Amino acid sequence: MAQGRILAKKDIETVFRRLSEAMPGRTKTAKGPKDQPDPFRSVVSCILSAQSRDTNTKAATDNLFALATTPDAILALDDEAVAKAIKPCGLYNNKTKSLKKLCTALIEEYDRTVPQTREGLMSLPGVGRKCADIVMSFTFGADVIAVDTHVHRVSNRIGLTDAKTADQTAAQLEENAPAWAFHDGHFWLIQFGKAICVSRKPKCETCPVNDLCRYYTATGAA
Ligand code: SF4
Repeated sequence: MAQGRILAKKDIETVFRRLSEAMPGRTKTAKGPKDQPDPFRSVVSCILSAQSRDTNTKAATDNLFALATTPDAILALDDEAVAKAIKPCGLYNNKTKSLKKLCTALIEEYDRTVPQTREGLMSLPGVGRKCADIVMSFTFGADVIAVDTHVHRVSNRIGLTDAKTADQTAAQLEENAPAWAFHDGHFWLIQFGKAICVSRKPKCETCPVNDLCRYYTATGAA
């Protein structure tokens, strides 16, 4: 890790402070996997979300839960029925296999209860750090900055992190971000990444953190 590219802690705190002032954060209308108080549904939805748009993931999850709502009930379905139900989210044959492995592990190793720790969640088949953090944040209410593509891009442009993968970014944010930013950090960064630090043409001239941003200060313009 090129530590020199990561901003000083006081500058990282300033970035989060300004983002907190500029972005709405974790509001009732904030985008995210809402209405998923059921941890099992939340984990299933997360597995189905790989390379899928939110609307397609929701359609697939709704279809599946119209057929079965527990690990035992999903295992009782034949693979074709599961694949047909989750077809909207794509990669449905592989995801069917992953879902069945998940259900088996929950039954055999966790007495049908979704674990509430990152380590426990990541021990489940098909659940990586992003998925675990999303379930922890959105379903269990943990103060965790889940990292998606927007959070990854923005964090590394600014210099909150210096990471190649989203998982590395998540680990570095946990290390570098101030504790008070953990509750809303995911939302500030994702909203900022959609509104200002967009993928192709970031709006650097009007950006509230351009004086600190590593990308901008290195190039003069993004
Ligand atoms: S200055 Fe540009 S690249 Fe840097 S955070 Fe702002 S919009 Fe993104």
